[in-house]
Amino acid sequence: MTDSVAGGPSLPQERRLVTEIPGPASLERLDRKKAFVADGVGTTLPVFVVAAGGGVLVDVDGNSLIDLGSGIAVTTVGNAAPAVARNVHAQVDAFTHTCFMVTPYDGYVDVCEKLAQLTPGDHAKKTALFNSGAEAVENAVKIARVATGRDAVAVFDHAYHGRTNLTMAMTAKNMPYKNGFGPFAGEIYRAPMSYPLRDGLTGGQAAARAIDVLDKQVGAQNLACIVIEPILGEGGFVVPAPGFLPALAAWAKDNGIVFVADEIQSGFCRTGDWFASDHEGVVPDLVTAAKGIAGGLPLAAVTGRADLMDSVHVGGLGGTYGGNPIACAAALGAIEEMEGGRLTERAREIGAIMERRLSELRAVHDVIADVRGRGAMMAIELCKPGTTEPDAARTAAVAAYCHKNGVVVLTCGTWGNVFRFLPPLSISDELLDEAFDVVAEALTATM
Ligand SMILES: *Cc1c(COP(=O)(O)O)cnc(C)c1O
Repeated sequence: MTDSVAGGPSLPQERRLVTEIPGPASLERLDRKKAFVADGVGTTLPVFVVAAGGGVLVDVDGNSLIDLGSGIAVTTVGNAAPAVARNVHAQVDAFTHTCFMVTPYDGYVDVCEKLAQLTPGDHAKKTALFNSGAEAVENAVKIARVATGRDAVAVFDHAYHGRTNLTMAMTAKNMPYKNGFGPFAGEIYRAPMSYPLRDGLTGGQAAARAIDVLDKQVGAQNLACIVIEPILGEGGFVVPAPGFLPALAAWAKDNGIVFVADEIQSGFCRTGDWFASDHEGVVPDLVTAAKGIAGGLPLAAVTGRADLMDSVHVGGLGGTYGGNPIACAAALGAIEEMEGGRLTERAREIGAIMERRLSELRAVHDVIADVRGRGAMMAIELCKPGTTEPDAARTAAVAAYCHKNGVVVLTCGTWGNVFRFLPPLSISDELLDEAFDVVAEALTATM
């Protein structure tokens, strides 16, 4: 065990390398990981963290790395954010668990009330809380099936919805998420996604193509729900062409199909709006949220039309830990940070900086086929120059350079050739610029 070190925004905000990455103390721990942790649980950058906050992660060797990943879009408000830490401490001292299904408490209801206000649309809304994003997606499907009396579920190419059996079936990519783990849940149908770099279609054309597949191969009358990420997460941060989401939502409405926005990665200020659906004024019937919702504690939610949510019989939704009091206290702290810190605006500012830096890089490096994203959810896709042939090898080389030089970057995409940049919104402009200086060096060094 390592003694805990105070983290949060008061940590020195600097990139500081005192050893190789990973350093000797991390390498020692990596041996212990190898001995005791299942190999199936991989690690992107094996530095063992002792403190984090603002825009940095500090490791056991004393290195301070710039964080462009936020633990996969989770620590949007920053690590150990003050209001999160304060609320968690207070809740831990009061009580840690009762199970909301046995004896309830205020924090759960407070989070549900906040979600009714913050999610798109001003209709009557209700919420059920869970532990993980996958669990939220599963429950959205359960609710849609009961509400409609139908079985079929529509999902999209490049989708990522989780690692449980139903959500593996809903996820598109085989390796590493699905390979060997079947048989998968049935009644899942996949439609083509709008992918402007690769299909050249307008939003309307891409929606017509998807609707045609669903209508002819499944039948609108058999569909319980359409589940879609308004901006693809693991699948490559693809922003669908304008008009795609509104056209799908309208078709769903006309056909009594529940429209579910999986905002687990794109929600909670990440894109410069509270939810990515807000950008085009799309009002989903159900929204799934997780990741950024609770400043790092495990919490997930399904929020949506009260009539749909209430179609499930009493006792049909829940779980031992869903809406744990500490996780709810953390969520209320994270929401306080987001509202007080005007983090939707901050996400837009960060997005503008990233877009400028990435566009400059694209002008110099023809391996960058696309710069895309919204707010603090930006990406570049790397392809063989002049083509759309994915360049996963170059992507891996650039990532390795960044990691060695103290910048935590994440890749994604069906072909593993996309960098996704997800800095905590507590990062400073200076650190962000320094991180992109390293990304620029990495692109040059790997030419
Ligand atoms: C991460 C993610 C999930 C799964 O969430 P977990 O908490 O890892 O189960 C589902 N959907 C999207 C869009 C995600 O990004």
